[in-house]
Amino acid sequence: MTSIGNFIGGEWRPAQSGATLENRNPADTSELIGTFADSSAADAELAIAAARRAFDQWRLFPAPKRAELLFKAAQIIASRKEDLARDMTREMGKVLDETRGDVQEAIDMTYFLAAEGRRLHGQTAPSELRDKFAMSLRQPIGVCSMITPWNFPMAIPSWKIIPALVCGNTVVLKPSELTPLSAVHFVKVLDEAGIPPGVVNLVTGGPAVGEVLTTHPDVSVVSFTGSTAVGKLVNQNAAPHFKKVHLEMGGKNAIMIMDDANLELALEGCLWGGFGTTGQRCTAASRVIVHERVHDRFVEAFVARASALRVGNGLEPSTQMGPSISERQLQKVISYVEIGRQEGATIACGGRRLTGGAFDAGFFHEPTVFTGVTPSMRIAREEIFGPVVSVLKCGSVDEAVGIANDVAYGLSCSIYTQDINRAFKAMRDVYTGIFYVNAPTIGAEVHLPFGGTRATGNGHREAGLAALDVFSEWKSIYVDFSGKLQRAQID
Ligand code: NAD
Repeated sequence: MTSIGNFIGGEWRPAQSGATLENRNPADTSELIGTFADSSAADAELAIAAARRAFDQWRLFPAPKRAELLFKAAQIIASRKEDLARDMTREMGKVLDETRGDVQEAIDMTYFLAAEGRRLHGQTAPSELRDKFAMSLRQPIGVCSMITPWNFPMAIPSWKIIPALVCGNTVVLKPSELTPLSAVHFVKVLDEAGIPPGVVNLVTGGPAVGEVLTTHPDVSVVSFTGSTAVGKLVNQNAAPHFKKVHLEMGGKNAIMIMDDANLELALEGCLWGGFGTTGQRCTAASRVIVHERVHDRFVEAFVARASALRVGNGLEPSTQMGPSISERQLQKVISYVEIGRQEGATIACGGRRLTGGAFDAGFFHEPTVFTGVTPSMRIAREEIFGPVVSVLKCGSVDEAVGIANDVAYGLSCSIYTQDINRAFKAMRDVYTGIFYVNAPTIGAEVHLPFGGTRATGNGHREAGLAALDVFSEWKSIYVDFSGKLQRAQID
């Protein structure tokens, strides 16, 4: 059992108040993973001050040298992948294959964006005037605060920290209070790789820390991933200081299955998309919209396979689906099952908390499929973030696209079809940030932009080269070597 403090200015120290929070295994709450600093506003302020001081030097540290340190960090993470994944399963609950994937995503992101240290390209352009040179370049912005959720405990911090660092910014990270350990591991690796003191700071705790990170005048960028409700608050809190705010929020993603689809493939996709990570992915396929001609056949097979999923502790090799992250999250799932029942949808399988034996020590729920769902039901519109999939019927690709678009969110969507015309139509007409053909709604790769529209995001993108746009600002520079006044648009 470990007791871990905040990392501020290159030193580990407890919360100034001495308060701590417990991190327990959601598959077995008798296992205490560790105690962490339950920080207050004062700790967050110290971290911001350290990041502010470090910025003056880090921004001048040559970008290719920043990259060398980040490559080293990627190598260290890769060398510890298995241990990091095991710790993540213990604190977060998802199965080992998935936590290995989470760590791999951090490795991939670090290698991919570290390489930008030797690019960070700007543009040169001809001037409209003689003997004048024009160019643009990316500038670091300053202190970036990062507020992250619990479902990707290492991947999401890496998506934010690595592009921020390569651009020359300094960082204060506040991970979810439910999964601080993986964030601590990540920050320790960065320190070991030689990132100078104060460049990366970590403050664990809850909303009190988050609020300072979104309002403090010395914070220039706020990068938030979490629920739409908290994202809205973050946006409002950051607005008076004109901070750059990057929001990645909730989703209500749909898989559309056409009558010509390879149904076995679609079935595999729906099981993975709907119940992978216990449905606790922002990109989870919580809606399946099936063509009426194949609906009954699909539902029969889907229900059989969903009810056969092996639920349990993610460290057991046979487990296919782990627990919900917390009692609170599990209660949310239970309440939505009740809402669906009252709305008149049919519980085709699942629908109950799992109890008895080892289940009593954790937050387990049966994989649940609702049929007879209509687009206006709350279970078809609101993010549940658990192992609950709503099946809706459609009569055409146009109707499916209409249903897919008819929610507040716009993160990910997919279509199963053999018909290229339908695939391209859906690709064009579904208003999401991510779209898949003949694959589920999950499976993003780090070198493409990641994010969503409407209540999912505010126009920025994580990952890909788009991440650089969040963490840098363009400066246009004109050099006049004519020795005389030249007036643009006039001379
Ligand atoms: P959450 O909104 O409850 O918490 C997210 C983070 O915000 C946590 O670190 C939390 O401590 C912090 N926070 C809470 N109140 C705050 C406040 N007032 N000010 C500042 N920070 C505050 O979300 P969660 O339960 O941790 O995560 C699940 C949500 O995250 C889901 O809605 C999911 O869709 C979303 N998510 C989105 C993406 C994406 O890329 N779009 C990825 C993963 C998760």
